[in-house]
Amino acid sequence: MGNPKAFLEIHRQEAGYRPIHDRIHDFGEVEQTLNMHQRREQASRCMDCGVPFCHWACPLGNKAPEWNDALYKGDWELAYRLLSSTNPFPEFTGRICPALCEKACVLNRFNHEPTTNREDEAAITEAAFREGYIQPRTDIVRRGKKVAVIGAGPAGLAAADDLNLKGYTVTVFEKNEAAGGLLRYGIPNFKLNKELIDRRLRLLEAEGITFKYGCDIAMDTGIPAMSADYDAVVVATGTPVARDLNVPGRELKGVHLALELLSQQNRVLAGKEYTKEERITAKGKDVLVIGGGDTGSDCIGTAHRQGCKSVTQIEIMPRPVEGPEDPQNPWPAWPRTLKTTSSHEEGCVRRWNINTLGFIGENGHLTGVRVQEIDWQPNPAGGRPLMVEKSEPEIIKAELVLLAMGFLKPEHPAYPANVFVCGDAANGASLVVRALAGGRDTAAKVDHYLRHGS
Ligand SMILES: Cc1cc2nc3c(=O)[nH]c(=O)nc-3n(C[C@H](O)[C@H](O)[C@H](O)COP(=O)(O)OP(=O)(O)OC[C@H]3O[C@@H](n4cnc5c(N)ncnc54)[C@H](O)[C@@H]3O)c2cc1C
Ligand code: SF4
Repeated sequence: MGNPKAFLEIHRQEAGYRPIHDRIHDFGEVEQTLNMHQRREQASRCMDCGVPFCHWACPLGNKAPEWNDALYKGDWELAYRLLSSTNPFPEFTGRICPALCEKACVLNRFNHEPTTNREDEAAITEAAFREGYIQPRTDIVRRGKKVAVIGAGPAGLAAADDLNLKGYTVTVFEKNEAAGGLLRYGIPNFKLNKELIDRRLRLLEAEGITFKYGCDIAMDTGIPAMSADYDAVVVATGTPVARDLNVPGRELKGVHLALELLSQQNRVLAGKEYTKEERITAKGKDVLVIGGGDTGSDCIGTAHRQGCKSVTQIEIMPRPVEGPEDPQNPWPAWPRTLKTTSSHEEGCVRRWNINTLGFIGENGHLTGVRVQEIDWQPNPAGGRPLMVEKSEPEIIKAELVLLAMGFLKPEHPAYPANVFVCGDAANGASLVVRALAGGRDTAAKVDHYLRHGS
């Protein structure tokens, strides 16, 4: 344990975001960093609890007390070794993990000032790259068996990494033109700089993983065929189908799924060009985001950077409770409380209990959205509460609508015994940290199968 009194004497300090007037004009990462002294001070606040709930809450089982102690003592290399023993890509989680561990931290229970594990992770990993502690492994002993991984999102990359280090010859097949999955084509650059993905890919390639891009493998025929050519196949194809809103006017120009905007914007930043007709942009428009979650929030930040006139975000469910505690889901569980992201801070009208009735337009182009305030009442028959109308319908002016209402959980056909499904493809839309944990868990199952045949 670092400094036994630090949690009493030193307050939680977050690095915070770049000022709004500065960050709103570019797609650079919004989060800042602390200096090394401040970072070590923050690490010293970890109490090394007898029962580390942070470790329990992190799907990867990250050993936060251990690496915080090494960080406090200034041993950045040891901190990285401990961190990377459970987390294959801490440079990603260090930036975009919601930090389930921090909500479960005993200090969060004590005074709502948990340790800064997520930021510590990013700092440790950047130091490790800078100081050259991270080098490609050249001592991998090959086993003579081949594994195909379908999908190069975080789950596929984590599985590929583990299986490669275990000595299997791994080929990753990806339908996009580059690897990363939603890390690259969903999460905006202002949350995660894509050079970090390329830096990690260079390492994975140097360690022997082969990547094949532009390969859209058919789930029903391609995967069974591959299972005959490879000793094992890992399916990490995510949740490709977004939930749509089939109300009148859905066909109007200006109504898009959130990922159509987000992936196109990330591709534009990577140098891809689009025609004026293809380009989706919020420039000069009133924008309505339908869906109150994180994908919706990413649309808000993107719309601001594209130069929108205004942004409104509506959600059909009630406004969550405010404050650090959630009486329905108390510590150390994740509090389902109102979340205000850096994108919300940049300016946005947020409304809850709003149902969408239809899209209206002129000459085929969207001009507004018919919505209605609703209420949720207990269902006398039990089960899901009943939605009741609360007011007359109204029109929200909008020239661009972004549908950010989640993704459908994929269904898979019955695969041969040497095919393993992981990440969002197995569990439905979730988090990067869960995708990484799923990829590692699946790599262990594949290894067991290939060694023991069951
Ligand atoms: C806009 C947005 C923002 C998000 N922000 C966060 C965040 O801040 N923090 C967080 O923790 N989580 C976030 N998430 C969730 C997170 O990105 C996902 O849970 C995670 O990426 C899932 O990883 P995965 O590898 O299972 O799937 P994916 O990342 O979806 O990767 C699947 C890959 O498989 C490929 N593929 C699909 N079908 C085929 C096929 N037939 N053949 C070949 N390749 C195929 C896809 O092209 C893709 O590259 C966000 C999600 C979205 C949509
Ligand atoms: S991956 Fe997320 S939950 Fe796990 S230790 Fe890091 S920030 Fe916490």
